Amino acid sequence: MNPLDLTVTDVRQHVYCPRIPYYRYTMPLERPTTAKMDLGKEEHESTSAKEARRTLKAYGIKEGERRFGVNLHSAHLGLRGKIDMIILTPGEAIPVEYKMAAAIGLHHKYQLTAYAMLAEHTLKRTVTRAFVYLTPAKRAVEVPITAAMRGHVRSILAELRSSVENERLPRPTPHRKRCTDCEYRRFCGDVLTGAP
Ligand code: SF4
Repeated sequence: MNPLDLTVTDVRQHVYCPRIPYYRYTMPLERPTTAKMDLGKEEHESTSAKEARRTLKAYGIKEGERRFGVNLHSAHLGLRGKIDMIILTPGEAIPVEYKMAAAIGLHHKYQLTAYAMLAEHTLKRTVTRAFVYLTPAKRAVEVPITAAMRGHVRSILAELRSSVENERLPRPTPHRKRCTDCEYRRFCGDVLTGAP
C-alpha cells in the first residue's frame, strides 16, 4: 500500500495542533469559506502582484529569477505543496511564503522546511534558507533550514500517517487559546471539559 500523500499545509497544521490534520483526513467536513479566508486570499494575490514589481532587495539578494505559485511534489517524501514564490540563484533555491501576520511562528518555520525539502527534490537545487514575507510590516524574515528541522518534518509526516492509518487520535495542542475559534472544537470534548 502506498503511504498517504500529505501536503505542506498538513505539516504546518500538525505543528499548530496535531489533531487538525488528523480530523481533516478521518472526518472530512464541508468547510465553509469564511470572510477571514477570503480576505487572506485577496491579500495573497495582491502581495504576489506587488512582489512581481519589487526588487530582491528585501531579501538581501542582488540577482535571481523569481517564480510564483510553484507546484512541488516528491513521491519519495509522499508530499506536495504550492509555494508562493521561489528565488533561483546560480547556487541555490530560496522558498518564500507570504504571511498576513505580525511575526512568524514555529508552524511557519516547519512549513518552510517542508517546502525547502520539496524544492530540493523537485528542482534539484541546494536549499539552506527560506523567507517569510510579513505583509503587514512589509518585512522579509530569513529562516535557516537545518538538518534537525528536516528530521523533524520527517517525524511529523510519519506521525501523521501513523495516526490516520491507525485511527489514533493525536494529543491536543498545549496552547488552549487556539481552541477558541477552532472549526473542530466540537470534536474535542476532552479539551473543552479539561479531561487529561
Ligand atoms: S479544538 Fe483545540 S485541540 Fe481540538 S483540534 Fe482544535 S486546536 Fe486542536
